[in-house]
Amino acid sequence: MIDPVHALSLHQLTKTYANGKVALKGISLHVEQGEFFALLGPNGAGKSTTIGIVASLVRPSGGLVTVFGERLDQNPYGVKQMLGVVPQEINFNPFEKVEHILYTQGGYFGLSRLELRDIVEHLLHILGLADKRQQQAKALSGGMKRRLLIARGLVHRPRLLILDEPTAGLDVELRLGLWGFLEELNRSGTTIILTTHYLEEAERLCRQVAIIDHGEIIANAAMRSLLDQLDSEVFVLYLCEPLAVLSSLGDFGVKLVDPRTLEVCVGRDQNLNDLFALLAARGIVVHSMRNKQNRLEALFTRLVGIGEQAQPATRQVAV
Ligand code: ADP
Repeated sequence: MIDPVHALSLHQLTKTYANGKVALKGISLHVEQGEFFALLGPNGAGKSTTIGIVASLVRPSGGLVTVFGERLDQNPYGVKQMLGVVPQEINFNPFEKVEHILYTQGGYFGLSRLELRDIVEHLLHILGLADKRQQQAKALSGGMKRRLLIARGLVHRPRLLILDEPTAGLDVELRLGLWGFLEELNRSGTTIILTTHYLEEAERLCRQVAIIDHGEIIANAAMRSLLDQLDSEVFVLYLCEPLAVLSSLGDFGVKLVDPRTLEVCVGRDQNLNDLFALLAARGIVVHSMRNKQNRLEALFTRLVGIGEQAQPATRQVAV
């Protein structure tokens, strides 16, 4: 059963909370060393419960967790040393100074001030917190607080970093900055697992993805092969002139959202040239267009059965 190869292995992990709520129904998952892994799922799917168990914050009801081959139930301290967890909520002491939060955290892992000096300096600089080091945490902006959480999760140089919604609430610039930082961290050898609601983030960063729904893993594959399963995409077309009615458009699935907006489902075996030829033949002029969703979002929507969009005209989407 013990798994020396994977950064993280979950075997038949179950969790039933005291109120009887079954949050995990026996999930099994393997994350390779060096991986950048996305754990996705709708609200209430069981993501935080899973992370909570790995971080020793939630007691599992059954199953086995190993981190780099160490069993969590047998060697929780050894597992903690290898693991950095960045929670969703800001949970440091707001009155503590930025630098002090990092030294205190390192102290929990048995590291001396001297041992910590270089890594704390490095993290403060790379995460743009160096000039805030003497400030109380409560004085930081939302983006800085989140970066401080990440610095705190990294201070003991974990081999596996787990981030729960790392860019929630961040503006575009901060999000892009954080993506670059995480990519660099992963390139330098740290295995990263993240949960995110921004599917664009998962598609951009992660090579492997698992989707959890109602306490079960419903998809677990390389990001590329998962996206290859997507056999149609929906495009939103903005028309130059209003259209009263459009009942069909060859084999394309269409939905007239309003007189100037058309949604068209383009299957893998169809192409945009044919679509535009059909539109041109009917005198419909398209001003501009966009993808309705990014590709992972479209797949996710279908797998967990939420949302509604134009369906293919000739066949159902099967993933
Ligand atoms: P996610 O992180 O994917 O949103 P969670 O792991 O937080 O999902 O929750 C999974 C399920 O377990 C949900 O139905 C949630 O309401 C329930 N749950 C989470 N924490 C507790 C708790 N402490 N007590 C009872 N039920 C809980």
